[in-house]
Amino acid sequence: MFKLTNKSVIITGGGSGIGKAMAVLFAQQGAEVHIIELNDQAAADTVSEITAAGGKATGYACDVSKQQQVIDTFAKVGKIDILINNAGIAHIGRADNTSTEDFERVFNVNVKGAYNCLYVAIPALKTNGGGVILNTASIAASVGITDRFAYSMSKGAIHAMTLSVARDYLHDNIRCNCISPARVHTPFVDGFIAKNYAGREDEIFEKLSKSQPIGRMGKPEEVAALALYLCSDEAGFITGTDYPIDGGFITL
Ligand code: NAD
Repeated sequence: MFKLTNKSVIITGGGSGIGKAMAVLFAQQGAEVHIIELNDQAAADTVSEITAAGGKATGYACDVSKQQQVIDTFAKVGKIDILINNAGIAHIGRADNTSTEDFERVFNVNVKGAYNCLYVAIPALKTNGGGVILNTASIAASVGITDRFAYSMSKGAIHAMTLSVARDYLHDNIRCNCISPARVHTPFVDGFIAKNYAGREDEIFEKLSKSQPIGRMGKPEEVAALALYLCSDEAGFITGTDYPIDGGFITL
Protein backbone atom coordinates (compact mmCIF):
# COMPACT_ATOMS: atom_id res chain seq x y z
CA MET A 1 0.00 0.00 0.00
CA PHE A 2 0.95 3.64 -0.60
CA LYS A 3 3.95 2.85 -2.80
CA LEU A 4 5.32 5.66 -4.96
CA THR A 5 7.76 3.56 -6.95
CA ASN A 6 9.43 5.63 -9.71
CA LYS A 7 7.12 8.60 -9.14
CA SER A 8 8.84 11.94 -9.60
CA VAL A 9 7.80 14.26 -6.75
CA ILE A 10 8.52 17.97 -6.31
CA ILE A 11 8.32 19.21 -2.72
CA THR A 12 8.72 22.94 -2.17
CA GLY A 13 10.21 23.81 1.20
CA GLY A 14 11.37 20.18 1.45
CA GLY A 15 14.49 21.06 3.44
CA SER A 16 12.80 21.57 6.80
CA GLY A 17 9.91 20.55 9.03
CA ILE A 18 6.83 19.12 7.33
CA GLY A 19 8.33 19.24 3.82
CA LYS A 20 11.43 17.40 4.99
CA ALA A 21 9.35 14.68 6.66
CA MET A 22 7.41 14.31 3.40
CA ALA A 23 10.65 14.08 1.39
CA VAL A 24 12.07 11.38 3.67
CA LEU A 25 8.84 9.31 3.73
CA PHE A 26 8.14 9.64 0.00
CA ALA A 27 11.70 8.51 -0.81
CA GLN A 28 11.26 5.53 1.53
CA GLN A 29 8.16 4.63 -0.51
CA GLY A 30 10.19 4.57 -3.74
CA ALA A 31 9.70 8.09 -5.09
CA GLU A 32 12.39 10.17 -6.75
CA VAL A 33 12.21 13.32 -4.65
CA HIS A 34 13.05 16.84 -5.91
CA ILE A 35 13.45 19.36 -3.10
CA ILE A 36 12.94 22.98 -4.10
CA GLU A 37 14.30 25.27 -1.42
CA LEU A 38 15.20 28.84 -0.64
CA ASN A 39 17.67 27.37 1.86
CA ASP A 40 19.97 25.34 -0.37
CA GLN A 41 22.00 24.01 2.58
CA ALA A 42 18.81 22.60 4.15
CA ALA A 43 17.97 20.98 0.81
CA ALA A 44 21.47 19.51 0.52
CA ASP A 45 21.32 18.13 4.08
CA THR A 46 17.96 16.46 3.43
CA VAL A 47 19.21 15.02 0.14
CA SER A 48 22.26 13.57 1.96
CA GLU A 49 20.01 11.99 4.60
CA ILE A 50 17.79 10.41 1.96
CA THR A 51 20.56 9.14 -0.29
CA ALA A 52 22.51 7.76 2.70
CA ALA A 53 19.44 5.63 3.44
CA GLY A 54 19.34 4.37 -0.16
CA GLY A 55 16.68 6.75 -1.49
CA LYS A 56 16.68 9.02 -4.53
CA ALA A 57 16.68 12.79 -4.01
CA THR A 58 17.99 15.99 -5.59
CA GLY A 59 18.01 19.52 -4.17
CA TYR A 60 17.48 22.76 -6.09
CA ALA A 61 18.05 26.30 -4.83
CA CYS A 62 14.95 28.25 -5.85
CA ASP A 63 12.74 30.99 -4.49
CA VAL A 64 9.20 29.89 -5.40
CA SER A 65 7.99 33.50 -5.38
CA LYS A 66 10.16 34.19 -8.47
CA GLN A 67 8.47 32.78 -11.56
CA GLN A 68 11.57 32.59 -13.78
CA GLN A 69 13.45 30.65 -11.08
CA VAL A 70 10.54 28.22 -10.87
CA ILE A 71 10.43 27.78 -14.67
CA ASP A 72 14.19 27.14 -14.81
CA THR A 73 14.13 24.76 -11.86
CA PHE A 74 11.19 22.68 -13.13
CA ALA A 75 12.99 22.41 -16.50
CA LYS A 76 15.94 20.83 -14.66
CA VAL A 77 13.64 18.38 -12.87
CA GLY A 78 11.98 17.13 -16.08
CA LYS A 79 9.15 14.62 -15.62
CA ILE A 80 6.74 15.28 -12.73
CA ASP A 81 4.06 13.00 -11.28
CA ILE A 82 3.34 14.79 -7.99
CA LEU A 83 3.68 18.44 -6.92
CA ILE A 84 3.56 19.40 -3.25
CA ASN A 85 3.18 23.14 -2.69
CA ASN A 86 4.45 23.25 0.87
CA ALA A 87 6.86 26.22 1.18
CA GLY A 88 5.37 28.87 3.42
CA ILE A 89 6.25 31.69 5.78
CA ALA A 90 4.45 33.10 8.80
CA HIS A 91 3.78 36.65 9.92
CA ILE A 92 2.36 38.11 13.12
CA GLY A 93 0.02 41.04 12.80
CA ARG A 94 -3.54 42.33 12.51
CA ALA A 95 -5.14 44.18 9.60
CA ASP A 96 -4.26 47.57 11.08
CA ASN A 97 -0.61 46.85 11.83
CA THR A 98 0.46 44.67 8.90
CA SER A 99 2.61 46.75 6.55
CA THR A 100 2.16 46.56 2.80
CA GLU A 101 5.66 45.09 2.57
CA ASP A 102 4.86 42.29 5.03
CA PHE A 103 1.48 41.61 3.43
CA GLU A 104 3.11 41.30 -0.01
CA ARG A 105 5.96 39.16 1.30
CA VAL A 106 3.55 36.62 2.80
CA PHE A 107 1.40 36.53 -0.32
CA ASN A 108 4.42 36.35 -2.63
CA VAL A 109 5.66 33.15 -0.99
CA ASN A 110 2.48 31.46 0.25
CA VAL A 111 0.15 32.26 -2.65
CA LYS A 112 2.16 33.44 -5.66
CA GLY A 113 4.77 30.75 -4.96
CA ALA A 114 2.10 28.05 -5.20
CA TYR A 115 0.63 29.67 -8.33
CA ASN A 116 4.09 29.81 -9.97
CA CYS A 117 4.56 26.09 -9.39
CA LEU A 118 1.06 25.26 -10.69
CA TYR A 119 1.66 27.40 -13.77
CA VAL A 120 4.64 25.29 -14.74
CA ALA A 121 3.59 21.90 -13.35
CA ILE A 122 0.08 21.60 -14.77
CA PRO A 123 1.09 21.54 -18.47
CA ALA A 124 3.77 18.98 -17.56
CA LEU A 125 1.27 16.81 -15.64
CA LYS A 126 -1.20 17.01 -18.55
CA THR A 127 1.48 15.91 -21.01
CA ASN A 128 2.28 13.08 -18.64
CA GLY A 129 -1.33 11.81 -18.58
CA GLY A 130 -2.19 13.26 -15.15
CA GLY A 131 -0.86 13.41 -11.63
CA VAL A 132 -1.43 14.73 -8.14
CA ILE A 133 -1.15 18.17 -6.54
CA LEU A 134 -1.15 18.60 -2.77
CA ASN A 135 -1.11 22.02 -1.11
CA THR A 136 -0.20 22.77 2.51
CA ALA A 137 -2.78 25.17 3.91
CA SER A 138 -3.44 25.63 7.65
CA ILE A 139 -6.29 25.60 10.13
CA ALA A 140 -5.69 29.39 10.13
CA ALA A 141 -7.74 29.46 6.90
CA SER A 142 -10.81 28.05 8.65
CA VAL A 143 -10.62 29.58 12.12
CA GLY A 144 -8.55 32.75 11.63
CA ILE A 145 -5.82 32.51 14.27
CA THR A 146 -5.40 35.66 16.42
CA ASP A 147 -2.73 38.05 15.10
CA ARG A 148 -2.21 36.13 11.85
CA PHE A 149 -4.08 38.37 9.41
CA ALA A 150 -1.92 38.01 6.28
CA TYR A 151 -1.01 34.40 7.01
CA SER A 152 -4.64 33.32 7.53
CA MET A 153 -5.69 35.14 4.36
CA SER A 154 -2.92 33.48 2.37
CA LYS A 155 -3.96 30.03 3.55
CA GLY A 156 -7.60 30.81 2.69
CA ALA A 157 -6.37 31.48 -0.84
CA ILE A 158 -4.78 28.03 -0.83
CA HIS A 159 -8.19 26.48 -0.03
CA ALA A 160 -9.81 28.32 -2.95
CA MET A 161 -6.88 27.52 -5.22
CA THR A 162 -7.27 23.83 -4.40
CA LEU A 163 -10.95 23.84 -5.36
CA SER A 164 -10.33 25.79 -8.55
CA VAL A 165 -7.53 23.51 -9.73
CA ALA A 166 -9.39 20.33 -8.74
CA ARG A 167 -12.40 21.42 -10.79
CA ASP A 168 -10.51 22.74 -13.84
CA TYR A 169 -8.36 19.63 -14.31
CA LEU A 170 -10.80 16.94 -13.17
CA HIS A 171 -10.88 15.48 -16.68
CA ASP A 172 -7.13 15.69 -17.17
CA ASN A 173 -6.63 13.01 -14.53
CA ILE A 174 -5.13 15.56 -12.11
CA ARG A 175 -6.26 15.34 -8.49
CA CYS A 176 -5.73 18.36 -6.23
CA ASN A 177 -6.23 18.44 -2.44
CA CYS A 178 -4.93 20.41 0.50
CA ILE A 179 -4.06 19.61 4.09
CA SER A 180 -4.60 21.94 7.01
CA PRO A 181 -2.36 21.30 9.99
CA ALA A 182 -2.78 22.91 13.39
CA ARG A 183 0.51 23.51 15.24
CA VAL A 184 3.20 21.03 14.23
CA HIS A 185 6.56 21.01 16.00
CA THR A 186 8.97 22.23 13.31
CA PRO A 187 11.68 24.93 13.01
CA PHE A 188 8.80 27.20 11.86
CA VAL A 189 7.29 27.03 15.37
CA ASP A 190 10.63 27.07 17.22
CA GLY A 191 11.72 30.14 15.21
CA PHE A 192 8.43 31.90 15.97
CA ILE A 193 8.82 31.26 19.72
CA ALA A 194 12.50 32.27 19.79
CA LYS A 195 11.83 35.49 17.88
CA ASN A 196 8.79 36.62 19.85
CA TYR A 197 9.25 35.12 23.33
CA ALA A 198 13.02 35.11 24.01
CA GLY A 199 13.71 33.78 27.51
CA ARG A 200 10.22 32.22 27.83
CA GLU A 201 10.67 29.46 25.20
CA ASP A 202 9.69 26.48 27.42
CA GLU A 203 6.68 28.24 28.91
CA ILE A 204 5.33 29.31 25.50
CA PHE A 205 6.02 25.91 23.93
CA GLU A 206 3.98 24.32 26.73
CA LYS A 207 1.20 26.89 26.35
CA LEU A 208 0.96 26.38 22.58
CA SER A 209 0.95 22.61 23.02
CA LYS A 210 -1.86 22.75 25.59
CA SER A 211 -3.88 25.11 23.38
CA GLN A 212 -4.55 22.19 21.08
CA PRO A 213 -7.40 19.92 22.25
CA ILE A 214 -5.24 16.80 22.04
CA GLY A 215 -2.69 18.47 24.39
CA ARG A 216 0.37 18.46 22.17
CA MET A 217 1.71 19.70 18.85
CA GLY A 218 1.61 17.49 15.79
CA LYS A 219 4.70 15.71 14.51
CA PRO A 220 5.96 16.39 10.96
CA GLU A 221 5.93 12.63 10.35
CA GLU A 222 2.19 12.51 11.13
CA VAL A 223 1.51 15.16 8.49
CA ALA A 224 3.78 13.37 6.02
CA ALA A 225 1.77 10.15 6.49
CA LEU A 226 -1.46 11.94 5.50
CA ALA A 227 0.31 13.51 2.51
CA LEU A 228 1.56 10.10 1.42
CA TYR A 229 -1.95 8.67 1.46
CA LEU A 230 -3.39 11.62 -0.49
CA CYS A 231 -0.64 11.40 -3.13
CA SER A 232 -0.89 7.63 -3.52
CA ASP A 233 -3.00 5.75 -6.05
CA GLU A 234 -5.07 4.43 -3.11
CA ALA A 235 -6.55 7.95 -2.77
CA GLY A 236 -7.65 7.97 -6.43
CA PHE A 237 -11.26 8.91 -5.50
CA ILE A 238 -10.25 12.01 -3.49
CA THR A 239 -10.01 15.44 -5.08
CA GLY A 240 -11.02 19.02 -4.24
CA THR A 241 -10.86 18.34 -0.50
CA ASP A 242 -9.22 19.95 2.52
CA TYR A 243 -7.98 17.59 5.24
CA PRO A 244 -7.52 19.10 8.71
CA ILE A 245 -4.77 17.37 10.70
CA ASP A 246 -5.18 19.26 13.92
CA GLY A 247 -5.54 17.21 17.12
CA GLY A 248 -9.20 18.24 17.25
CA PHE A 249 -8.54 21.98 16.90
CA ILE A 250 -11.42 22.70 14.55
CA THR A 251 -14.02 20.24 15.79
CA LEU A 252 -13.47 19.75 19.55
P1 NAD B 1 9.61 25.29 8.08
O1 NAD B 1 9.95 26.72 8.26
O2 NAD B 1 10.21 24.28 8.99
O3 NAD B 1 9.91 24.86 6.57
C1 NAD B 1 9.51 25.67 5.50
C2 NAD B 1 10.56 25.59 4.42
O4 NAD B 1 10.13 26.41 3.32
C3 NAD B 1 11.93 26.14 4.87
O5 NAD B 1 12.93 25.17 4.65
C4 NAD B 1 12.14 27.37 4.01
O6 NAD B 1 13.49 27.57 3.62
C5 NAD B 1 11.27 27.05 2.79
N1 NAD B 1 10.89 28.28 2.10
C6 NAD B 1 10.43 29.44 2.66
N2 NAD B 1 10.25 30.36 1.71
C7 NAD B 1 10.57 29.78 0.53
C8 NAD B 1 10.60 30.24 -0.81
N3 NAD B 1 10.27 31.50 -1.11
N4 NAD B 1 10.98 29.38 -1.78
C9 NAD B 1 11.33 28.12 -1.48
N5 NAD B 1 11.34 27.63 -0.23
C10 NAD B 1 10.97 28.46 0.76
O7 NAD B 1 8.02 25.24 8.14
P2 NAD B 1 6.97 24.05 8.39
O8 NAD B 1 6.44 24.19 9.75
O9 NAD B 1 7.53 22.76 7.94
O10 NAD B 1 5.82 24.56 7.40
C11 NAD B 1 5.61 23.99 6.13
C12 NAD B 1 4.25 24.44 5.64
O11 NAD B 1 3.26 24.04 6.58
C13 NAD B 1 4.10 25.96 5.49
O12 NAD B 1 3.34 26.23 4.33
C14 NAD B 1 3.32 26.37 6.73
O13 NAD B 1 2.55 27.53 6.51
C15 NAD B 1 2.44 25.15 6.91
N6 NAD B 1 1.94 24.98 8.28
C16 NAD B 1 2.80 24.80 9.32
C17 NAD B 1 2.28 24.63 10.60
C18 NAD B 1 3.18 24.42 11.79
O14 NAD B 1 2.68 24.55 12.93
N7 NAD B 1 4.43 24.08 11.62
C19 NAD B 1 0.90 24.65 10.80
C20 NAD B 1 0.05 24.84 9.71
C21 NAD B 1 0.59 24.99 8.43
